[in-house]
Amino acid sequence: MDKRLLADYLRTYHGRPLRLMEVCGTHTAALYRSGVRGLLSEKITLLAGPGCPVCVTPTAYIDKLVALARTPGVRVLSFGDMLAVPGSTVSLAGARAEGADVDFFYAPEQALALAERMPDTQFVLAAVGFETTAPVWAAVAEGILSRGLSNVRLLTALKTMPAAMDALCGAGGIDGFLCPGHVAVVTGAEAFRPLAEKWKKPMVVGGFTPELLLAALCRLTREAERGNAGVWNEYPAFVRAAGNEKARSAVSRVFEAGEALWRGLGQVPGSGLYLRGPYAALDAGSRGLSADRAPEGCRCGQVLTGAIGPRDCPLFGKACTPEHPVGACMVSGEGACRICLITGKE
Ligand code: SF4
Repeated sequence: MDKRLLADYLRTYHGRPLRLMEVCGTHTAALYRSGVRGLLSEKITLLAGPGCPVCVTPTAYIDKLVALARTPGVRVLSFGDMLAVPGSTVSLAGARAEGADVDFFYAPEQALALAERMPDTQFVLAAVGFETTAPVWAAVAEGILSRGLSNVRLLTALKTMPAAMDALCGAGGIDGFLCPGHVAVVTGAEAFRPLAEKWKKPMVVGGFTPELLLAALCRLTREAERGNAGVWNEYPAFVRAAGNEKARSAVSRVFEAGEALWRGLGQVPGSGLYLRGPYAALDAGSRGLSADRAPEGCRCGQVLTGAIGPRDCPLFGKACTPEHPVGACMVSGEGACRICLITGKE
């Protein structure tokens, strides 16, 4: 359908009020930056969800990385955006300033090459992400074993989206979901059908360009208003019903599901991925995280579950800024608070 017609439908929608969640942080960023978010009828409320992997990482995970980085002979390596995420007392960047051995990589392959050159140093890689990133980490684990590297372990905080969406549905107050497009490339659109049927909600897989966002939101609005449940794939150029079977089989070869702690959602059964079988020996102590001690006044947990918007946090743009983040949602380029502040939009 023509882009202007789609935009007009969303701008002039006057049906029952709808609360729709975009689960994925990349969608949050695209919706703000494209201006699509700003053109919606006031009867449509878009809620940012828990789909930014950095944002949902609990403080206990950062604390564990910090403790490892302070251990003599151990170097912690991470993607750069994790460094500024506050732990319960200090971020990785703060710990590095105090002398802990922390560095970042652009790709995990770099870390393996470094470990090969420095056999006397123990490396711990921060493996954070969702279904999209898990196949990369599966390849890393396989690479560690096949190259015989005895000085590399992974501290995993890998999570899966359907289990988190199940928890959100249980809490209520959401009329439908814009499902994460990148995740769906791996899982397939059908991964969301059990949830759609269990909770009787519309779930629409969408892409990231303005045209694709408009198409997905129109579909979601129309089905939610009619009270329809089901899965619709509005990103068919990249998302198949069954997803990427090769990637999924790599993940299940290396990881198994288990309970995981999410910032905002608490413990979610079956939502974590942990090294299994021969790969379990590479684990640096990923299971059993129990504490998420948000800094005083931080409302990230409520932002991540759509209970409030970023601007509802009293620290937003005052005590909490991209230069001095108090919560994780102000750190990542996919964090709702950071995007909201930088774009200056509601
Ligand atoms: S403004 Fe900062 S402290 Fe408040 S919810 Fe957002 S990230 Fe957390």
